[in-house]
Amino acid sequence: MDRTIIDQAGDRQLNVEPYWMPFTPNRHVKADPTPRIITSAKGAYYRTAEGRELFDSLSGLWCCPLGHAQPRIVEALRRQAETLDYCTAFQMSNPVTLRLAERIADMAPAGLDRVFFTNSGSEAVDTALKIALGYHRLRGEAGRFRMIGREKGYHGVGFGGMSVGGMVANRKMFATAMIQGVDHLRHTHDYAEMAFSKGQPTWGAHLADDLERMVALHDAGTIACVIVEPLQGSAGVIVPPLGYLERLREICTRHGILLIFDEVITGFGRLGAPFGADRLGVIPDMITFAKGITNGIVPMGGVIVRKEIYDTFMTGPASAVELFHGYTYSGHPLAAAVAHASLDLMEEGDLFARVRELEPILEGAVHTLRDEPGIKDIRNFGLTAAVDLEPMPGQPGARALRIFERGLREGILLRFTGDTIAMGPPFISTPAEITGMIEMLRTLIRAEA
Ligand code: PLP
Repeated sequence: MDRTIIDQAGDRQLNVEPYWMPFTPNRHVKADPTPRIITSAKGAYYRTAEGRELFDSLSGLWCCPLGHAQPRIVEALRRQAETLDYCTAFQMSNPVTLRLAERIADMAPAGLDRVFFTNSGSEAVDTALKIALGYHRLRGEAGRFRMIGREKGYHGVGFGGMSVGGMVANRKMFATAMIQGVDHLRHTHDYAEMAFSKGQPTWGAHLADDLERMVALHDAGTIACVIVEPLQGSAGVIVPPLGYLERLREICTRHGILLIFDEVITGFGRLGAPFGADRLGVIPDMITFAKGITNGIVPMGGVIVRKEIYDTFMTGPASAVELFHGYTYSGHPLAAAVAHASLDLMEEGDLFARVRELEPILEGAVHTLRDEPGIKDIRNFGLTAAVDLEPMPGQPGARALRIFERGLREGILLRFTGDTIAMGPPFISTPAEITGMIEMLRTLIRAEA
């Protein structure tokens, strides 16, 4: 079988074999790679090696809300590369990174005003978990070692994030390597109670009481932290029930448990506010972020921490390292420069307000799919939406895969997990592009019914 394709210039063949593709059925894709090769991108569209334009329905992987090839970002990257292309973050820093930490602290909910930089969401999560353990130890509560995640949660692929994560396929192969003492709250998705909800489901606040069950089971004095995505993105846009996060916050506070919001998807505008915490009115003790901060152009992540947590570490001799943790590329100046340009564009374009304007358009459009064949559920919140399809008998995931592959031929790049299609279009999308995206999906669903 020919597993090579002609590259963009047409004068050289690309060999797809050496590349081990992440989260991908490698053999299936490499059997017919050509439709999957993207050669350029501009605004809300990709261009493939075959010359097709694809609408970017998930803003990259939730990470490119401003669209691609933004001239201001390209220029910021070029200028920073010429000025200071790298600087170690250990013992040293640089103006662009320092200013970014201040800027993020200013944007974050009141009280969260210390920023630790990483390079990805996975690293941000592992960092936050370590900070939680360290915080309790420094306060004389080293017995607080348990970390609580939630079923269907996605917190990246490091050993920490994988352990607190609750997507079973991501855990199975590594079951023996899970961090000890981790437990999981039950998830909040219930077809019988909330199918086809618009925005936050009204049923389900009481599900937060699952944390009380764990406190009773394990004793609060053994629990360090709870980590949840305010809106579960990777599992397919599972929107928190009204009152659920408030209750989780209240239980954590009562038992001295740190609450971490993993805002890798929801941070920087996806829910129409700087953070999901702002939109949902619940303030955690730490926020993890990545993705949108740099518009996905240069990797960057981080943790925003309550000052009181930071201060707990600032003890002992002033010349001693307080937290033995960090990355070669923490606070990378190129990422920081791109983050500033991205935040500038978000502010100048008032893009969080734009998300709020686009939200009802997406909501109205996506719920019109309800009567199409084989639709099991539709959910939406902020500029996110998901459609659950009835699986093909005995072939879970096959229907969504077929819709995805047909989409590549028809002009849209979709994202699917199992038989769920998730959408998170760029903030710069026009109302016509949002409704057009849903109409494309309708055509695909009918074609694969
Ligand atoms: N946390 C959440 C909530 C995510 O959605 C993701 C990625 O989708 C991650 C963590 C992991 O981020 P990364 O892939 O940058 O490591």
